[in-house]
Amino acid sequence: MDLRSERPYWPSTCRRPRLRSSLSRRGRVDVLIVGAGVTGALVAYALAKAGARVAVVDNRAAGSGSTPASTALLQYEIDTPLVKLSAALGRAHAEAAYKASRIALDDIVRIDRELGGGIDLLPRRSLQLAVKPSDVRTLRGEVAARQRLSFPVSMLSRAALRSKFSLNRPGAILSEEALEVNPLKLTYRLLSAAKERGVCILPRTRLNLSTLATKTRPFRVELPDGGRVVADRVVMATGYETPEQFREIAVVTELRSTFALATEPLSREPWPERALLWDAGDPYFYARTTADLRVMIGGEDEPFTTAAARDAMLASKTRTLMKNLRDLVPRLRFQCAFCWAGTFASTKDGLPYIGEHHRFPGVSFALGYGGNGITFSVIAADIIAAAFGGSTHPAAKLFTFDR
Ligand SMILES: Cc1cc2nc3c(=O)[nH]c(=O)nc-3n(C[C@H](O)[C@H](O)[C@H](O)COP(=O)(O)OP(=O)(O)OC[C@H]3O[C@@H](n4cnc5c(N)ncnc54)[C@H](O)[C@@H]3O)c2cc1C
Repeated sequence: MDLRSERPYWPSTCRRPRLRSSLSRRGRVDVLIVGAGVTGALVAYALAKAGARVAVVDNRAAGSGSTPASTALLQYEIDTPLVKLSAALGRAHAEAAYKASRIALDDIVRIDRELGGGIDLLPRRSLQLAVKPSDVRTLRGEVAARQRLSFPVSMLSRAALRSKFSLNRPGAILSEEALEVNPLKLTYRLLSAAKERGVCILPRTRLNLSTLATKTRPFRVELPDGGRVVADRVVMATGYETPEQFREIAVVTELRSTFALATEPLSREPWPERALLWDAGDPYFYARTTADLRVMIGGEDEPFTTAAARDAMLASKTRTLMKNLRDLVPRLRFQCAFCWAGTFASTKDGLPYIGEHHRFPGVSFALGYGGNGITFSVIAADIIAAAFGGSTHPAAKLFTFDR
């Protein structure tokens, strides 16, 4: 699948490290990970730390799928608000999912420390903006639900939002806990650290996944270059191309087209504190800043049909995103430097699918589908590493296929 258009911003910020390494002659590993995007990188790093022998293969160069298209706002808020998720899955399940997402933010801070920085990870406050006056009531209910979990959130009135953040909207949830990151630097640093711990990385290696998944353990995989991997377990970190390779995944996900842009660098802060901004509109809109002081915005989602149809919308969607930014921050003067389109997958309840599907024993899926895919991938890495160590992660049952 063509996952995104040609020119996202992040590849201009860093160079791909040398990652290819060679397999031991017998090709024996504990875990074979398919996919070297941010998910595969997080899983490889976590497994290597847990002492596993790991090989990672990817059809493309590492970090060349959806990951460089990500706007990489890292939030614990799931696409489905806590109040709605509680109504759909029950309060205990919904609250546990939100708590797991919040812990994942701490995990990323820890990973950054372990990696020695270099991934442009920064703590930010975040603002979930009301679009219409009637949104305020819904947001208040959401604040109350999150405060019951002792999450540090508060409701800002229109006046408070204007005086503290210079934004003119009917109200907003102010959350004290969010992060921003450079997703490509994160991926490269994780893969480099994993390689240093002995993980073998084989880019530009396509596997036939449906054949692989139905094999019996240990999985014996013939590589296109004539080599061979023998693995006790397989992890599918294959992102949004997974539904086209597994009917079982296609029936529980929906593909959407989405759009983003990055401005030229600005000379000063575009809004106070460079908080992460996102709104409750449909289609929604969100914004952040980058390490070199660009504004990055995204949203304007549409149902996905084909990559060509998605990319044909890029020019008009870019104009709409720019208009949204002007409406939100009227005094801002900016020029668009990068714009791109991507495909992403969402699930009905907004939660990812992590773990085994009953049809494929020995195969774990790490599918962080939804707006906060990277946060979900951190959770997936933890769950998979715990399973390798012989324990069951407390969040594992929240994201199973049979939930
Ligand atoms: C425009 C956009 C904005 C986003 N914004 C955010 C955000 O603000 N915050 C957030 O948390 N998330 C966001 N996301 C989601 C997040 O970016 C994704 O969840 C994440 O990048 C997915 O990473 P991945 O490693 O799972 O997938 P990918 O990066 O696509 O990696 C999967 C890899 O699997 C490989 N592969 C697939 N099939 C095979 C095969 N058969 N053989 C070999 N290799 C194979 C592919 O080549 C690919 O490189 C956004 C996504 C998009 C598109």
